[in-house]
Amino acid sequence: PGEGELEALQHADVARLLPVPGAESDKYRRGVVGIAAGSARYPGAAVLAVSGALRGGAGAVRYVGPAADAVIARFPETLVSDRGPAKAGRVQAWVVGPGAGDDAASVVEVLGTEVPVLLDADGLRLAERDVVRGRTAPTLMTPHAGEAAALLGVRREEVEAARLAAVRELAAVYRATVLLKGSTTLVADAGGGAVRVNATGTSWLATAGSGDVLSGLAGSLLAAGLSALDAGSVAAYLHGLAGRFAADGAPAGAHDIAARIPEAWRDVR
Ligand code: AMP
Ligand code: MG
Repeated sequence: PGEGELEALQHADVARLLPVPGAESDKYRRGVVGIAAGSARYPGAAVLAVSGALRGGAGAVRYVGPAADAVIARFPETLVSDRGPAKAGRVQAWVVGPGAGDDAASVVEVLGTEVPVLLDADGLRLAERDVVRGRTAPTLMTPHAGEAAALLGVRREEVEAARLAAVRELAAVYRATVLLKGSTTLVADAGGGAVRVNATGTSWLATAGSGDVLSGLAGSLLAAGLSALDAGSVAAYLHGLAGRFAADGAPAGAHDIAARIPEAWRDVR
């Protein structure tokens, strides 16, 4: 890549971007993040997305979907709603897709809101390109190479061989901010400009559910008011550090990564 095409966030940049509540803050001012995720088949994806969101700086996490019992059993502070996303109540950013199966209705409802939306996993597959393009609020898409390849209609190997071009093309085609996961994470805005690169991670992060934690974390930062570019790159930074703390020379599960996010946060501040 040519000079100026890539930029890496430093510790000090991340510290400056972390949302810290002011003395007058209440939970609504800190932001409410909505999670529309999970299914009867994949309830754990909902639990993991909520686990990331609770550590991301929003004042409250609202969950809608079929895994409410599993979410509440693990995280009793979650607000759950049995109505769809459109009627769930106040939400300042939505995360839709992890483990969601074929719940296209939730994706449509979430994309119809005027708050920032993070699309991951099944949400990427179910979202209509023209609907994403037509949104006025920010959209952050978080594919891994396989998901990016499906969106572009190419083979996974082609994305892996030209990751910078792929993330830029997706951002342009969807008019969205795109975070491409992998051994490094690339985050590109639709309008062009430098692409953020994150390398705080470790290959121990390649574990089931790891991306679900990242999506909740980034969604929470969106709800707290960060731009899609900042939310995605700060989330990748913290997730990578948390992964290092969790898997210090030994394997860890995705829930262990989520549990170390506070330590990553303190390390940065
Ligand atoms: P997902 O594939 O959705 O579960 O997301 C996997 C997460 O792990 C993403 O945050 C990736 O960036 C990260 N990850 C996967 N493989 C590696 C690797 N080899 N090195 C560093 N991070 C990785
Ligand atoms: Mg995933």
